[in-house]
Amino acid sequence: MADEGLEKLPVDDGPSGEGLPYALIGAGPAGLGAARCLSKRGIDFVGFEAHSGVGGLWDIASETSTMYESAHLISSRTTTAYDELPMGEDVADYPSHREMLDYFNEFADKFDLRRHYRFDTRVIRAVPESEAVDSNWLITSRGPDGEDVTETYAGLIIANGILSEPSIPDFEGDFSGEMMHTSVYKSPDIFKDKRVLIIGAGNSGCDIAVDAVHQAKSVDLSMRSGYWFFPKYILGKPSDTLNEGKAMPAWIKTRVDGKVIRMITGNPARLGFPEPEGRIYETHPVMNTLVLYHAGHGDIKVRGDVARFDGDEAVFKDGSRGEYDMVMLATGYKLNYPFIDVRELNWRGNHPDLYLNIFTPKHRNLFVLGMVEATGLGWQGRYNQAELVAGFIQAERENPARAEQMWQRVQGPKPDLSGGYNYRQMDRLPYYVNKDAYRAEIAAHRELFEEVPAGN
Ligand SMILES: Cc1cc2nc3c(=O)[nH]c(=O)nc-3n(C[C@H](O)[C@H](O)[C@H](O)COP(=O)(O)OP(=O)(O)OC[C@H]3O[C@@H](n4cnc5c(N)ncnc54)[C@H](O)[C@@H]3O)c2cc1C
Repeated sequence: MADEGLEKLPVDDGPSGEGLPYALIGAGPAGLGAARCLSKRGIDFVGFEAHSGVGGLWDIASETSTMYESAHLISSRTTTAYDELPMGEDVADYPSHREMLDYFNEFADKFDLRRHYRFDTRVIRAVPESEAVDSNWLITSRGPDGEDVTETYAGLIIANGILSEPSIPDFEGDFSGEMMHTSVYKSPDIFKDKRVLIIGAGNSGCDIAVDAVHQAKSVDLSMRSGYWFFPKYILGKPSDTLNEGKAMPAWIKTRVDGKVIRMITGNPARLGFPEPEGRIYETHPVMNTLVLYHAGHGDIKVRGDVARFDGDEAVFKDGSRGEYDMVMLATGYKLNYPFIDVRELNWRGNHPDLYLNIFTPKHRNLFVLGMVEATGLGWQGRYNQAELVAGFIQAERENPARAEQMWQRVQGPKPDLSGGYNYRQMDRLPYYVNKDAYRAEIAAHRELFEEVPAGN
């Protein structure tokens, strides 16, 4: 549903995008947070969303969604919600994707955000008009009529999600059965009576292994390294609510939580899982104890890393073999910005190298939201990113001295966002942050800009 009024964009090639709107890509949790923050500050923008509605990957019907039927929040509702819209007591502690989609629709309605968006419209190209650091942007989008339209914008905010482009390892040999990535997995009936190998035991891999147990003839789970498995409840409460708001030093939290987790789940190695790598929190926690339960009941067999495929067999690095009808790759995602030359995003290796995971030192008016992985940052964490961006854009126009202060920081050394943890997945997920350290840095930077009065 395109907003008719948005078709007539002001055409103005003046300096610093004066009179022009910003372009915002995405109406998922990050994009909606941005839409809210921009409109709170009266910043004109046009939102582009490839799907027909809001909610991002939480709308399982969206072509861009990698959600599956059994998926629920991994973090609990209280730690995940936007501050401006707490989830009601009637919502489950770990709501399903269906409840989440209702929630995002409610958020969009409450703040009248839909009117800013062109739905069914994909941004296919974003190019700066000149070499200037504050150059306007030429944005080409393709709407429901299939026509490409190029328009000039004051800047670009990218909130296109980080879980859409599957990362598929190169395996030696050929597998003669069916192989698929979790990005296309929807429901467990595909496992019916099959011998299934799931490769990768992150949160999705474990969820899907548990789904498969109820349908498949056999379920094997291939793991390259060991993880800590966290219970979703401790003492009857969602486990992420237990020390909410009180950031403990890394060494205390590691010790205390490590003891508690060991008391509850024991060492997963006893059930055939690899020894967890490093200390607790040094790898992204897997919020799933059902996988331990099923391994304990012999319904899930843990295997090592796959060396190669040979017909219907997987050959593991320890020399053992297994026969399978289906292989499910739970091997994660890679960052993907197909509409922009990634050099504009200060690309390094496999990711944009951004200040606070948001600001590029190359452009004053190009921002990325949601390119962040952490334990428990939730929608509010994404919203806080958007508040900082909206504050900066407003200051560029109304308080240049403050904006310049921020810009100088963006040019300088990056703050440490690790919170003192030695995260082991940094080569694979270089945008991994510690939630408390990240929130604190975002809050400290937001102090540069005036608050929006409550109720706006
Ligand atoms: C099973 C599962 C469980 C999860 N659980 C949690 C959890 O408990 N807590 C948590 O914090 N996170 C969780 N996540 C992570 C998830 O990434 C975030 O919840 C959230 O969806 C990220 O929001 P986003 O707006 O950045 O991206 P998305 O939700 O991916 O939204 C991006 C939007 O951008 C649109 N888009 C992309 N490219 C274009 C384009 N070129 N033009 C126009 N539109 C475009 C897409 O259509 C999409 O609507 C989970 C993910 C999965 C798969």
